Amino acid sequence: MKICILGGTGFIGHYLTNYFSQQFHQVKALGRQAFAPDFDLTSTLNGQDLVIMLAGANVGERWSKQHKQALWDSRLNTNARLAQALSQCKQPPARIFSASAIGIYPQNSCTNLIDETCTEIGEGVLGQLGKAWEEASLKLLPKPLILRFGVVLGKNGGALAKMLPPFKMGLGGPVAGGQQCFSWIHLEDLARIMSFAIEHPELEGPINVTAPNPVSNAVFGASLAKALHRPFWLPLPEWQLKLMFGEGAQVLTHSSAIVPQRLLDAGFEFTYPQIDDALKACV
Ligand code: NDP
Repeated sequence: MKICILGGTGFIGHYLTNYFSQQFHQVKALGRQAFAPDFDLTSTLNGQDLVIMLAGANVGERWSKQHKQALWDSRLNTNARLAQALSQCKQPPARIFSASAIGIYPQNSCTNLIDETCTEIGEGVLGQLGKAWEEASLKLLPKPLILRFGVVLGKNGGALAKMLPPFKMGLGGPVAGGQQCFSWIHLEDLARIMSFAIEHPELEGPINVTAPNPVSNAVFGASLAKALHRPFWLPLPEWQLKLMFGEGAQVLTHSSAIVPQRLLDAGFEFTYPQIDDALKACV
């Protein structure tokens, strides 16, 4: 199969490129240059079987005014450009998988799980950004598969790479009280979900790409400390988080208890359903 991954040079895209290449798919992975005005995106997409759209500026950084604008532009402008290029293809791709995030949902607690039947949108920036992002994805091709990623855990990158240094130094502890729920997915399962979706063309619309067992931030941190054989004791208060990340601190304080009900109903089996096993495999 011919697969084009846009936003293919980042943490997830890089892993998917290797994963699909090993399965003998023909993979083209492109970074932000794919959306430059002089890049011939239409020819690149013409004749592809599947497009995976992952492009987007990283939400896990300090939200300066400029970065906050980039969060929107890198999702909405790129999708508009992609829609235009797809509309000009003589042989358009049969399917598109488009990234989204569980930040689209309203906040909820670990005892009150949310699945894809929830149509409510979160009130904050993450909810509004998620809504606009998915609306843009719906204009790309008929019946897109929208992947609402939880926090993706893998080796050498993503959120875990940012969390590891203090934990490795033995300075891990609960963040902002630790009660907020943390919905996560192991990168290997994420790739397996993409393969599963390729084999199930009837899958369309939003699916939660999370493990079936979300945990509180405190349980997550204790599990990470245990995997590293380090103590878990030093709380990181919310005010300190805000000093570090500005408004972006909400990425770590947002409480999301999400389950991948549609995947479970479709028969997908997770290799890493539990956080302890997922983290042991990552560190
Ligand atoms: P990375 O930050 O590692 O990679 C981002 C990708 O998007 C890169 O290919 C990058 O290209 C491209 N990109 C960045 N800024 C722009 C821009 N302004 N215009 C066009 N392209 C741009 O992200 P991940 O691989 O971790 O995530 C991929 C997608 O999944 C993102 O949209 C992210 O929001 C979403 N997601 C990820 C989660 C996670 O835990 N990792 C959780 C929830 C959602 P270049 O290399 O050229 O800079």
